[in-house]
Amino acid sequence: MSDPSAVPGVPLSDLDYDAAEETAVLRVLRSKWLSTGPEVKQFEAEVAALLGVQHAVAVANGTAALHLALLALGIGPGDEVIQPAINFVAAANVTRATGATPVLADIVGLAEPVLDPAEVERRITPRTRAVVVMHYGGYATRLVEIARLCRARGLALVEDACHAIGGRAGGGADAPMAGSLGHLSCFSFFSNKNLAIGEGGMVTTDRDDLLAAVTRLRSHGMTSLSWERHRGHASSYDVVVNGYNYRMDDLRAALGRAQLAKLARNNDRRRALVAAYRARLREVPGVILPFAEADIAASACHLMTLVAPGAAAREAIAEALRAHGIQSSRHYPCITGFSAFAEMAENSLPHSLEFAARTLTLPLFPTMTMDQLDRVCDAVAAALRQTLAA
Ligand SMILES: *Cc1c(COP(=O)(O)O)cnc(C)c1O
Repeated sequence: MSDPSAVPGVPLSDLDYDAAEETAVLRVLRSKWLSTGPEVKQFEAEVAALLGVQHAVAVANGTAALHLALLALGIGPGDEVIQPAINFVAAANVTRATGATPVLADIVGLAEPVLDPAEVERRITPRTRAVVVMHYGGYATRLVEIARLCRARGLALVEDACHAIGGRAGGGADAPMAGSLGHLSCFSFFSNKNLAIGEGGMVTTDRDDLLAAVTRLRSHGMTSLSWERHRGHASSYDVVVNGYNYRMDDLRAALGRAQLAKLARNNDRRRALVAAYRARLREVPGVILPFAEADIAASACHLMTLVAPGAAAREAIAEALRAHGIQSSRHYPCITGFSAFAEMAENSLPHSLEFAARTLTLPLFPTMTMDQLDRVCDAVAAALRQTLAA
């Protein structure tokens, strides 16, 4: 039995779902076309328009997007792909799936946990083919700099923009959109992302040849989709490369279109919440707030992260939050901490290891209330006061 007088907890993230998503799904159910079809085409066109890119290809999830991006670039055995050691493991896993080697590089520092351009420069070898950047928490603060570096060194650039839909690389309304500067850029629409449909992803590119490669690889290496054959636009197909089934279906694309219509408003709400978090937590001694100097308006504000004074303080804050029914998380362990990547541990990654030991992610979602935010900040401040006094 739950105690009706208890203060309800605060989840790490929550969906903004209502009648719009229900209507979208019903539209598809009643059309009786469930797989890749007109909704996917529309969703792709709408995402391409938002980002100002030539092409967007909807796929099964963000990991598939990253896999296809590397394959479309022809990356394979013998190649090296430089990427941040603080990232979700997907990029490192799919780099290995192509037969290439992930080369983990350090972040700029505790206050800016994105790939350090100087580290990229330092880790380039004759085998380096591509760089994967990840816009941690929605902040693409080094994207322009790394794009310039990749151009100068003849390297392909892939954006892991899974945190950053609707964000920009730098301040100002005419700064390029996150996901518009890479040769290919990858998005995830997993349940906890800014645009959430359960499982889904997108690859974007300006290049026709990369579009063709991604589209073919998405569907078994075949030259036409069943939707096109259904409409009589094609009657047979050839298989020209060994591909996958990484398609998105129309049900999820319809959810995506409903969520996309809410994205600007929901990202603005996230920005207001992050501004409130910063104002409250700035006063708490010992805490580092990553990206505190970055322009909130340019960020998609996917995560609200703090860096505790130490690993023990991080655990104490997490435990205090748990006692108040408040969820928290860690984005991310350093990739070298995972067994499958343990042999990379001798790489020098001091900032990444320190960040992984001290970082804590606080609740952030568009339907979060300022009252919930106050409760989170009160619990963080009280826990820190206690650990600093101890
Ligand atoms: C979510 C995420 C992914 C993977 O996306 P899935 O849709 O879960 O496969 C990859 N990279 C980052 C940074 C992510 O946040």
